[in-house]
Formats: sequence, structure tokens, C-alpha cells
Amino acid sequence: MNSASSNEISQWVQEAVQSTPVTDLHTHLYPPAFGGLMLWGIDELLTYHYLIAESIRAARLPYEQYWSMSQSAQADFIWRTLFVERAPLSEACRGVLTVLNALGLDVNARDLKGFREYFAQQKSQDYLDRIMTLANVRSIVMTNDPFDPAERQVWLKGVDVDRRFRAVLRIDPLLLGWPNVADSLSQMGYKCSASLDGATMAQVRRFLNEWLDRMKAIYMAVSLTPAWRYPDDSPTTRVLNEAILPIARERNLPFAMMIGVRRAANPQLRMAGDSLGHADISSVERICAQNPDNKFLCTMLSRENQHELVVAARKSPNLMIFGCWWFMNNPSIIEEMTRMRMEMLGESFVPQHSDARILDQLLYKWQHSRRIIAKVMNDKFQDLAAAGWKVTREQVARTAAAYLSDNFERFVEPTKR
Ligand SMILES: [Zn+2]
Repeated sequence: MNSASSNEISQWVQEAVQSTPVTDLHTHLYPPAFGGLMLWGIDELLTYHYLIAESIRAARLPYEQYWSMSQSAQADFIWRTLFVERAPLSEACRGVLTVLNALGLDVNARDLKGFREYFAQQKSQDYLDRIMTLANVRSIVMTNDPFDPAERQVWLKGVDVDRRFRAVLRIDPLLLGWPNVADSLSQMGYKCSASLDGATMAQVRRFLNEWLDRMKAIYMAVSLTPAWRYPDDSPTTRVLNEAILPIARERNLPFAMMIGVRRAANPQLRMAGDSLGHADISSVERICAQNPDNKFLCTMLSRENQHELVVAARKSPNLMIFGCWWFMNNPSIIEEMTRMRMEMLGESFVPQHSDARILDQLLYKWQHSRRIIAKVMNDKFQDLAAAGWKVTREQVARTAAAYLSDNFERFVEPTKR
């Protein structure tokens, strides 16, 4: 067999990355059975929190004026400010255009009314099928919050979840909300005292087991601030050590840590007001080393944490790092992170998740990321060929499958690590 030419390799990489269906391991999407929690369409796309911050900044609009508008008036304002009066250069703006373009709409018509008419004609179930096909996404992992009253009702009533969607038990208040969360838990039927005594910890465990069963959750997740330390003498460490980690071990479920968010840096921007900070990598290393029978997923929000997170993964076989989260989800940073991870971890990481909140965003988040993943993969396979290694089409396809789906699927697989 002759060695593959540079053109062949590049073609194989393109084909493999484009044709491999994605398992999207962290989103905020819901199937139609969740009613109003499922978000899609042009007004949702335009009022995405990334674009709220960008448009208020660009127009210097008083915050209260923005929040007093109806959602469609907010969308009108964002469209006018970022797409008509200025060039839509940011990644979040570009994303809206990629979505419209992928749906076959004429972005140059700049016709918000026409776009609205198009979306008004879609039926949620058919539209979901169409988006998943166009984005080539096979499986969507949700973020499910039993502390959210609207979502809790859906689960308690019983819901038939579309098999392409899988649940994740999101537990931020349970880890970070002491002592106040004791009241919420008591109201939900888990009698807890603020002191976190033994009886309370037993109720916390019952809460976790019952909700994991109800949701058939495939992992538990939390987002943590840069100030998070492990271990320490806080309730967070106690709940981790006495409830979360033992249950995750018993059930062989990963625990996902999304670290680095600084909530409400500007409260006037509401959900668009969060910022980030450099977090403590030694806490990540310690939680992995001190709990070797637990599996951990981790992504971090600050660019300054990315190199040390890759090193932590090298030292921690039970740590799977994933995705380019939120402020990292920009082409230049995705490329830098993917290259660095490939160079230090080979195949053993998950390059991307979408974090989509609005169904249509799957189209742009995956189109944009696939292009970068393919670019970096191609460079690395070309380097192997230059070292005399015979690159094959099968090898390239296997690597693309590992990155886009198999690494995660194997990591959450209940029977093996
Ligand atoms: Zn998220």
C-alpha cells in the first residue's frame, strides 16, 4: 500500500468530521414534550444572552429600557443594532446568520418580518427532526434542574422523553446553596435542617437517588465559581464527600464540573451579566486524585486555565475534559485549545459541546466547530505522514468518531470506566 497523499488525507479528514454524527454532551435544549422550556426561532436566537450584552453595549441603551420591552421589541432592537447599523462580526452574530443560511433563508434580504413568518410556519417536532438532521447531531444531552419549578412539574407529572435526548441532574443549589437550600428541599418533601446533620445528609442522598431515577440521568453536574476549593471545611465539600461522590460511585456516573463562572458581575444585565475568573486547578487535581473510583468531566471558563487543565487530565485518568465553554467558544480560542489538547492528550478528550439554549443554534455551533476540529486534525495527520506513518482512512474515521461521540459515550457507559 502506498502512503496517502496530502490531498487524500485532507479529504478523509473533511469527510469523517462532516459525516460523523455528534453526541452533544452539554446543552440547555429540551424536546417538545417539555412545552415552553423548548426554545427555537428567530426571536429566541436574537435575544440570546450573548447578544443582549453585545447590543446594549453597542447602543449604550439604558438597561431598564431594554428590560421593559417585549421579547419581539428586544429582538427588533438587537437586529437593528447589531445586524443593520453595524457589521455582525462577532461569533454570536455570525451564528445567527449561519443558522438562517443553513435553513435556506436569504440573509441579504435582512427581512426580520419574513424570517418570523418562516419560523411561525414550523411545527416543533418536525423542526426538531430537521435541525438534528441538518446539524448531524445524533444525541442531545440536556441540563435538568429539579429546583426550577417549571421543570420540576414536568418531571413530576411524568414525561415521555424523546429517545434522542438524555438527562443530566444539575445540582448547583444542593452544593452551593447552604443553609438556604434546606428550606427548598423541605418544601420538596426532603426534610432538611440548615445544620447539615446526619439526618439531613440522608435526605440529600434520597433526593439525589430519587431524581437520578426519575430522570434516568447519565451524569450529575454543577457550575462552580473561581473561588471553589476542594477539599475545605465548607458545606460544599461535605455534600460532595458524603452524598454526591458516593452516589456517583455506586451508580458509576460521572460528576461534571464547569468551573470559572462569576455570577452577576453586572446585575443590571441579568442573565447576560455573568463574567469569569481564573480558577484553582489544584482543586481539580485533588478531587480526581482523592476519589480515584469516581469519574469526572470538566471544562473551565477562563483561557488562562486551559493549559493547566490539559496537564491535569494527563495526570488524572478519571478526568475527561470537554468543550470550549461560553467565552471560550470563539474560533481563535477553539483552535488554540483543540491544538493544545491534541498535542498533549492525543485522542482522549472531547473537543466540543454546543451549550445551545435555542434548538437552531445546533446548526451554527456544530458547523463552526467542525471546521476547526477538521483543520487541526488534518494538520496532525499531515505531521504523522511527514514522519513516515501510513495514515489510513479508517484511522481518520475512528479518530473523528472518538472526538465527536465515542469518547463521551464510553466515559458514561455504566459498566466500564
Ligand atoms: Zn451550559
